Amino acid sequence: MSNKKRIETVCVQGGYTPKNGEPRQIPIYQSTTFKYDTSEDMGKLFDLEASGYFYTRLQNPTNDLVAKKLCELEGGSAGMLTSSGQAANFYAIFNIANCGDHVISSSAIYGGTFNLFEVTMKKMGIEFTFVSPDITEDELQKCFKPNTKAVFGETIANPACSVLDIEMFARVAHKNGVPFIIDNTFATPINCRPIEWGADIVTHSTTKYLDGHGVSVGGAIIDAGKFDWKAHADKFPGLCTPDDSYHGVVYVDKFGLEGAFITKATAQLMRDFGSIQSPQHAFYINLGLESLHVRMKRHCENAQKVAEFLDKSDKIEWVRYCGLPNDKYYELGKKYLPNGSCGVLSFSVKGGRKEAEKFMKSLKVAAIETHVADARTCCLHPANATHRQMNDAQLEAAGIPPTLIRYSCGIENADDLIEDIAQALEKI
Ligand SMILES: *Cc1c(COP(=O)(O)O)cnc(C)c1O
Repeated sequence: MSNKKRIETVCVQGGYTPKNGEPRQIPIYQSTTFKYDTSEDMGKLFDLEASGYFYTRLQNPTNDLVAKKLCELEGGSAGMLTSSGQAANFYAIFNIANCGDHVISSSAIYGGTFNLFEVTMKKMGIEFTFVSPDITEDELQKCFKPNTKAVFGETIANPACSVLDIEMFARVAHKNGVPFIIDNTFATPINCRPIEWGADIVTHSTTKYLDGHGVSVGGAIIDAGKFDWKAHADKFPGLCTPDDSYHGVVYVDKFGLEGAFITKATAQLMRDFGSIQSPQHAFYINLGLESLHVRMKRHCENAQKVAEFLDKSDKIEWVRYCGLPNDKYYELGKKYLPNGSCGVLSFSVKGGRKEAEKFMKSLKVAAIETHVADARTCCLHPANATHRQMNDAQLEAAGIPPTLIRYSCGIENADDLIEDIAQALEKI
């Protein structure tokens, strides 16, 4: 019997193996602090000389068990939970890019991430170049500058539903000595494991499918442990030179390529910014993970049926779902997402904004929510919600025309979803 378990088994049993007489389910360590017999014992933890728990802002055993399961699911070497997907993407970039640095990002990304990069991180002195997800290898190469520190994208973009050529983005990033960071929220490790395609760091909004029931906001970062920071030490002084705030520890030397990135993000960013997950919410995320493989299958089956229905409707201008053979991303989907993509699709109702709004109002099964990737079907008009900050040109660049509707298929019966859509289309 092989030691490496199949992904369904990891969903259920990964991260935690109770010993004789221990709780079957992961315990919730609802404690801010941990007790030690001597100050010396605790001092070693503060110096990163020993591993252990002392304060939940840095680390908590429940959170670590869930991070470990996610790490196994993604095939990484180390992982951490954060309070939200926003915190995960912020930490993933800020861990290696400082004031004066530059990052290349796909323009087809979540609106909140776009805002984080384009507005807030810009104020911190980090410059972003946004590129089309369909950019060619040569064009991408031209975007690099001496101070470029990372390339970023989403496996399946929210809400544009474009599929990224992961291998190509990773290859060009590596050629330029920087890691490729990918937000794998929509695909989940069930449908795509970007590390297997060359990605170095994977982020998640666990708020979406991983939780799957709309109960807890959260994020995660998983490091593949493969990027050779030392080979590009001049670009990554934070990982390769002494950290004065920890008595001169050099992360790559002390924790190896497998542990350096996550240890630094925990020891510095979590210490200073404190965007921690709560142990109670980590427990909820774990409950979600236990059924992730079962739910993802159903989400994808429902989305495929809804996409096929919409594709045939004469009231629909276009549908974007990479499971449709006429979709622009069908081939990339077949390559990177052979077992299905996700439950989210986008489409445009014929007419304009008004028709889209009328359609939205008439839905009875699908609820209007600023949420996706949930057991319950929900939908959103991004130009009126998540992407309000963008002007029309930015919307177009992100692949989100003002008439786009994002529809997130839950795990209900697909026929009920289709009947609901049909009656709402009748009302237009
Ligand atoms: C929702 C989402 C985020 C942000 O996550 P929060 O948990 O809401 O902070 C980031 N990336 C993607 C792809 C998302 O869908």
